[in-house]
Amino acid sequence: LATDPAALIASAEAHGAHNYHPLPVVIASARGAWVTDVTGRRYLDLLAGYSALNFGHGHPRLIAEARAQLTRLTLTSRAFHHERFAPFVSQLAALCGMDMVLPMNTGAEAVETAIKTARKWGYRVRGVPEGKARIVVAANNFHGRTTTLVGFSTDPDAYRDHGPFTPGFTVVPFGDLAAMEAALDDDGDGGTVVAVLLEPIQGEAGVIVPPPGYLPGVRQLTAERGVLLMADEIQSGLGRTGRTFACEHEGVVPDVYILGKALGGGVLPVSAVVSSAEVLGVQRPGEHGSTFGGNPLACAVGLEVVTMLREGEIQARAARLGERLHDELAKLVELGALTEVRGRGLWAGLDLAPGLGSGRDVALRLLERGLLVKDTHGATLRIAPPLVIEEEDLAWALAQLREVLLG
Ligand code: PLP
Repeated sequence: LATDPAALIASAEAHGAHNYHPLPVVIASARGAWVTDVTGRRYLDLLAGYSALNFGHGHPRLIAEARAQLTRLTLTSRAFHHERFAPFVSQLAALCGMDMVLPMNTGAEAVETAIKTARKWGYRVRGVPEGKARIVVAANNFHGRTTTLVGFSTDPDAYRDHGPFTPGFTVVPFGDLAAMEAALDDDGDGGTVVAVLLEPIQGEAGVIVPPPGYLPGVRQLTAERGVLLMADEIQSGLGRTGRTFACEHEGVVPDVYILGKALGGGVLPVSAVVSSAEVLGVQRPGEHGSTFGGNPLACAVGLEVVTMLREGEIQARAARLGERLHDELAKLVELGALTEVRGRGLWAGLDLAPGLGSGRDVALRLLERGLLVKDTHGATLRIAPPLVIEEEDLAWALAQLREVLLG
């Protein structure tokens, strides 16, 4: 195997499309919260695959399930039943307090699936006139990269030069209940809004937590109007915030959960739409699908993820270590190194004080000290370590951050 990072990066630049701008580290192996690069240097992972690695790299229980399933059965397609499907969908539905699951692979596919399902539900159950269904989304959303999803993004980097786009979406400011109410009532066509699609905490936007009362308010507005509330918990869910779902912090139960990332345990892409029998019951044979969605390997790993979440330890750990993380970050705000910190649990968006350089500059300085951190939107850093991170490793990371920010 090649071990020269410069040569590997040059070859990646020459032959891989430049749709990412990776930090200059070439990772070869990993365990828990630590990764090792091709030269043998270790780094603490504070990104966790954008929250896909909530259980850390190579979690022994997930690897054991994957290994056992690999040698038994990996793919049947949904043309046939397989023995791992029922346990996965029934246990995931139970974890969510719902009836049914529609498994897919990537997060974007699950959001697409939720949108198609909501529209179908609108036409078939609510009786919305064909072609009129509308979905309300929030500004600064991130739901994935398909043409439909970037079509209602407000980030020019996401949507520019990708149109024409799918119609039928209304964008409102995130956290503004009056704007939400106006959008729900201003469809001009007598109730054509079928769903509100929201991230309960906006991840890619910089870990934006809505004002208290916003999510319950949206829940009430949607319930009163018979509109589905669809929570994209792909990044916020499955333990990250110290609860199974970020919605729980506000006592909100949506009509639809959209899950991904950590559902595959960082082993393979596993996503799902989870909802009631009334909503997911609108899907009929031949109307939607995926060759790999709900495959035996995905179900085996996904079931173990669900089992661990039902045990509740990972959520408790995220809550406990999250308190420590936010206590320490609050001190950096007091000291003037950060202008603001947002987040819940082991998840934080840090706005750097002017003069410290860009988020990428700081990420590069942290990389030199053995920390993997990713910037988002200019002067914001995101911290989202694997939830299995050791407390002393977190303390060490915070000490490094402090030194880099305070000089
Ligand atoms: N939804 C949210 C909230 C996300 O954070 C992401 C990915 O960052 C997605 C959807 C898209 O997931 P994927 O990259 O697996 O398509």
